[in-house]
Amino acid sequence: SIPLGFFGGIGRASRQGILVKGGNYLEALNDVKQIVFDKTGTLTKGEFVVSKIKPYNGHSKDELLTKAAYAESHSTHPIAKSIIEACEYKIDNNKIEDYQEFSGRGIKAVIDGQEVLVGNNKLMDQEQIDYQEVTEEATEATIVYIAIDNVYAGYITIADHLKDDSLKAIKALKQAGIREITMFTGDRENVARKIAKRLGLDNYYAELLPAQKVEKVEELLKKQDKKDKLIFVGDGINDAPVLARSDIGVAMGGLGSDAAIEAADVVLMTDEPSKLVTAINTAHKTRQIIW
Ligand code: ADP
Ligand code: MG
Repeated sequence: SIPLGFFGGIGRASRQGILVKGGNYLEALNDVKQIVFDKTGTLTKGEFVVSKIKPYNGHSKDELLTKAAYAESHSTHPIAKSIIEACEYKIDNNKIEDYQEFSGRGIKAVIDGQEVLVGNNKLMDQEQIDYQEVTEEATEATIVYIAIDNVYAGYITIADHLKDDSLKAIKALKQAGIREITMFTGDRENVARKIAKRLGLDNYYAELLPAQKVEKVEELLKKQDKKDKLIFVGDGINDAPVLARSDIGVAMGGLGSDAAIEAADVVLMTDEPSKLVTAINTAHKTRQIIW
């Protein structure tokens, strides 16, 4: 049974914008040795902005962006929002005849009788599009490829930025005794490597589909000592299964989806990674008071 004192700890945490869904999770926070962060919306702001439009095969920039915006118009993914925002025209929903979203890959939609694909290399490979993979981009931009009627039509680059307190949070977590800090992302290897280096992460896994994030967490759980605990932190876009599978699932409460907040054991209301440090410190204090 959970000592009554944990309720005091839960109250202390909630006053700092940290919702802990039970004394057992507050207690478990004391034994965390490993933290896995999702990238987009967790370590980065998840506020994407279109930074470049590169058409191929005779398309104009305007046409490429507009087609992409139509295809994305039903998606709530941050990438979709940025493409729709960059498009100057109002989207006429009657033109969208068919729509399919592949999580961790992108969109297939029929617009004005044309099949439009908008997504990453995995989507292009899945649909057997003959395209040129973009590797020369020096920035950390996410590359979104577009194909129209099975012919490669160009790409759009989308920039995201680290949250202001991500670096501070990683340093403080290390100081608080976390042994291994890892990042998961569905984004490209290039982007992941740069971010991992800048933040001083111990490890990262890129180009993971949502189901592969669950498999990876299971692998990490198998390797860890019985008494140790693993945290997964995500914004919840496609993250609910991995949040549920971790010892402690932590969701970003502001940006996060309802499904993630539901699946999480701890919710950070202000979306700041450094709140995780506060949560762990609160757990330590609570244990000292109780035992
Ligand atoms: P992360 O793991 O970084 O949180 P996601 O799993 O949500 O990212 O998505 C992984 C990748 O899948 C994105 O980087 C993007 O390449 C592609 N993707 C997902 N949804 C879309 C979409 N609506 N439009 C275009 N690309 C998408
Ligand atoms: Mg995500």
